[in-house]
Amino acid sequence: MTLKELVKKVFFLEILKGMALTFKMMCTRAVTIQYPKQRRRIYAGFRGRHAFVRDPKTLKEKCIACMRCANICPSQCIYIAKKKRPEDGKLYLAQYDIEALRCIYCGYCVETCPVCALVLTEDYEYSAYTKQELYFTKEKLLENWDEFAAKQKEDTYFNKFWRPDGIDASKLPKGKREQGPVPTRIVVVSEPESSPEKNEKKETD
Ligand code: SF4
Ligand code: SF4
Repeated sequence: MTLKELVKKVFFLEILKGMALTFKMMCTRAVTIQYPKQRRRIYAGFRGRHAFVRDPKTLKEKCIACMRCANICPSQCIYIAKKKRPEDGKLYLAQYDIEALRCIYCGYCVETCPVCALVLTEDYEYSAYTKQELYFTKEKLLENWDEFAAKQKEDTYFNKFWRPDGIDASKLPKGKREQGPVPTRIVVVSEPESSPEKNEKKETD
């Protein structure tokens, strides 16, 4: 044993070092929070539970079954089936499923959607006991939207992070353009009176 090691042992230097660190940490601010009594603020761009935006006019999903989201999904967890309407031969969305347990929440599906039909909401408390509960069908995705929208109080949800390229805010459905009383953390697209070019996204804090 060297002299240095002996001194360390005799004077309990390692223990004193540990105690000093403990006292130091006792005086610093805690980084943990008392969840669920306390919750962290959710920032714009948060990627939570998937939902299909319910069109206020038709009260149905806005999806046009273009398949872009299914094609871009790196996890291959989106399943779409489309069928032709016998009356006019147009394609319609017959089935749309997302297997949330395979999703990596990259957000590509939302970014690529040309009609803002799909969103990743700010809901994060959706753990389940069975796999089936996390297999989102078309109906379940609409339910997810209803649950999320009910919490927002206003029909103004429009997360700027999920705005697909090339979408003109002035062409969005009325409910997505108007600026009413703005719920916290929600991004809305406001339509200026004079020029559509000046459309701005406003973010509340
Ligand atoms: S967030 Fe990414 S992984 Fe999840 S469904 Fe969308 S594209 Fe697929
Ligand atoms: S990209 Fe949008 S419109 Fe196209 S299939 Fe997916 S959700 Fe539907």
